[in-house]
Amino acid sequence: MDKTHWKKLNNPDYLGAYALQPGQDLVATISIVKREMITGADGKKEECTVMHFSDKTIKPMILNTTNCKTIQKVYKTPYIEDWNGRAIQIYIDNVKAFGDVVEALRIRPFIPKQNEPAKNEPIFCADCGQEIQPYGKMDATKMAAYTYENYGKSLCADCAKAEKEKSEIKDPLAEKEEVTEGESGDENNEN
Ligand SMILES: [Zn+2]
Repeated sequence: MDKTHWKKLNNPDYLGAYALQPGQDLVATISIVKREMITGADGKKEECTVMHFSDKTIKPMILNTTNCKTIQKVYKTPYIEDWNGRAIQIYIDNVKAFGDVVEALRIRPFIPKQNEPAKNEPIFCADCGQEIQPYGKMDATKMAAYTYENYGKSLCADCAKAEKEKSEIKDPLAEKEEVTEGESGDENNEN
């Protein structure tokens, strides 16, 4: 395992345990996940997977393997492009690392609860931007809530169908991946 400078655990440019109130989760919508060069507080550059949020007041979060796996489980897709627009719930977990217990950001293994949308307000599809229409027996509000519960974002009927098809595609890398649960050498980028 590579050695980790303690300052790297608290990069102020990225979301860290410091950003959450004790005992309080943070719900945020993913805008994009991408590989990025980041500079640690020790000046060392390193390429990391970074998750950005729609709410720009929330700092980007460096994703480790544990959290990527959680998002994949919650949204049934390993493709980072398909994570865009989805809500996740972040919490602080105490993990053993470097012979010590440190606070680490973790993602809850479920879709966060959604705030009730205002009645009679138009709701727009998170993917195509069109107003969500009633579908079958569901009015637009129900349709928005139903798709959110299943996909972590409110969708129109067409986009919900596309999303369902995507989630049915098997993960081509699943077999190759060794099963390593728990904490491993992957914990270098805890914040
Ligand atoms: Zn749509």
